[in-house]
Amino acid sequence: MRFLDHIQDSLARHVAAGLLRRPRTVTGPQGPVITVDGRTAICLCSNNYLGLADHPAIAAAAQVALGHLGYGAAASRHISGTMDLHRVAEARLARFVQQPRALLFSTGYAANTGAVQAITGPDAQIFSDELNHASLIDGCRLSRAQVHVYRHRDPGHLEQLLVRQRRAGVPALILTESVFSMDGDLAPLVVLRQLADRFGCGLVVDEAHALGVLGPSGRGLAARDGIIPDLLIGTLGKAFGTAGAFVAGPDDTVRLIENRARSYIFSTAPSPSLAAAALAAADLVEHADDRRATVLRHSERLRRELRALDYRVLDGETPVLPVIIGAPDATMILSARLLDLGVFAHGIRPPTVPAGTSRLRITPMATHSDEHVDAALAAFRAAREQAR
Ligand SMILES: *Cc1c(COP(=O)(O)O)cnc(C)c1O
Repeated sequence: MRFLDHIQDSLARHVAAGLLRRPRTVTGPQGPVITVDGRTAICLCSNNYLGLADHPAIAAAAQVALGHLGYGAAASRHISGTMDLHRVAEARLARFVQQPRALLFSTGYAANTGAVQAITGPDAQIFSDELNHASLIDGCRLSRAQVHVYRHRDPGHLEQLLVRQRRAGVPALILTESVFSMDGDLAPLVVLRQLADRFGCGLVVDEAHALGVLGPSGRGLAARDGIIPDLLIGTLGKAFGTAGAFVAGPDDTVRLIENRARSYIFSTAPSPSLAAAALAAADLVEHADDRRATVLRHSERLRRELRALDYRVLDGETPVLPVIIGAPDATMILSARLLDLGVFAHGIRPPTVPAGTSRLRITPMATHSDEHVDAALAAFRAAREQAR
């Protein structure tokens, strides 16, 4: 077999399993209504919860930085790539999550793989929620630590594992998302904090889908629940509407990550315009109580009315509404039908979610109007009727 034959074999297996991904193309800005593959549609599948991705104040801040500094950061942070705007953004983000220090990364994927690898190692133990994001799982793999996976949001199971497996004297982490990306449910952070303290573990919380949306001034679920993680990870590509990510924690923890995270050290620093955008976004997010209330109101209504239309929507209190379909093909057919009806709700399939739970992950935005939600629900009703 030639090399290309192996490639074609692998692709054919993807196609046969209904798992081939072919992203649609958006023309124009990321707003509540977008043009996707040339068609106008209400966007119900972005992570742009607060509708800030096309906010003029963020674009203006990035443009000012671009005008003064150009685009490139020219090197990794440890060589000549650390610019004053990176430092200013880090101080601002640390203040936002009320942690002593923060460190900027180019992406959340890099932050998670780098941070987990940096603060553990082959001698460590990691207790990890079974639905954690791929980037956290890859961080565990890179660390070569001993990984114990506990059942999703099940502190009883975690406690059993800690009692049986926790080895005294070795470093250990409990690793969780706060709002789970694909199910939209919440980690029991207060109990996780107690277990971490009792068993001498660090608690690492990925707030990707909570930051900007939950908690006082959008500070996240840890802030809402009144607990302090040993390391908080925030992404800037979701509610913040920009790109990049940060880790935040005590000075020594962040300094170790700065010195050991391979995705941080061996990577060009983020553009200074990204740091400028993050700064502008932090100011907007902090004062976005109206937007938070609107997106949560739309979420609550969609959850209730989609259920009334006989869709299977998982429980929750966040703007992530998983509409479970099951088979990947059926999921993509429904998604295509909805696009014909003017709603963009992309299908989510394995390996992003467990087999048999392919779904539409519905996410409203603060910038949707009540009329957008009306129209979206009408499309879901029509799609349901077409399927009968
Ligand atoms: C999106 C996401 C990430 C990755 O962040 P990017 O900035 O998009 O790379 C990490 N963790 C969770 C839970 C996410 O949903």
